[in-house]
Amino acid sequence: MKTKYQSLNIHPEIDVRTYKMKNAALDFYCPLCRMERQVSYRVNLSPLNYIQIIMLSFILVTLTFSRMEAFALIWPFLVWASFEITRRLLFKRDVPCPHCGFDATWYKKDVKMARKLVGEFWEKKKNSQPESKISPTK
Ligand SMILES: [Zn+2]
Repeated sequence: MKTKYQSLNIHPEIDVRTYKMKNAALDFYCPLCRMERQVSYRVNLSPLNYIQIIMLSFILVTLTFSRMEAFALIWPFLVWASFEITRRLLFKRDVPCPHCGFDATWYKKDVKMARKLVGEFWEKKKNSQPESKISPTK
């Protein structure tokens, strides 16, 4: 296994153990460190989410229609927006690579920021490791 990763020319400080997820929504390789990656959520809502949105909206509209009247029809849009926001936040939480700190969503928006985040990741990793592990003399 070690020779497999050595042949891929992976940096020696990158932890080659992969973080396996149950029911991964997406399998891919990190473009920066070439490690296997998985995320548990897709960025788009699933058909099940749309069913949940419809059911929750129906319940909220029927409960509040007597008080709010026509304003109660805003519930489906609020529920839909909250589902979309939650899904995007969960996706964004999963995307940064645990091996090298590369965040593809930031890379798409702002390359300098993505580069800065990778630098911060390595700085934090260097500071958290004990001194004996970093120095090649020991
Ligand atoms: Zn990576």
